[in-house]
Amino acid sequence: MIFKFTKNFAITLTILSILSIFYSFYQKLPIILIISIIMFVVSVISMLFTLSIEIFSKEKNLDLEELQRQGMTIVECYNCSKNNVLEDIYCIYCGEKLENSDEKL
Ligand SMILES: [Zn+2]
Repeated sequence: MIFKFTKNFAITLTILSILSIFYSFYQKLPIILIISIIMFVVSVISMLFTLSIEIFSKEKNLDLEELQRQGMTIVECYNCSKNNVLEDIYCIYCGEKLENSDEKL
């Protein structure tokens, strides 16, 4: 939810700064032009930042409840202690072979 808000905010800020760049350029207002260019750079950086966080969190966080509902077995990797799907055979984080701890006992 917070990522969606910051992303929308960054997109709005980018559009606003582009408009103010054009406005100050035609009105010959160098101070506003400089401010809007800085605003544009900041908004582009924040947009890229939120997008990369979004992609990163999507890849790294398994939806455990949803996977269990689908009949998957959630196991903890004994090498890196992160949650994995047993059906994946190998740990998606470190590549170690996954084993069901219940079967071992
Ligand atoms: Zn692992």
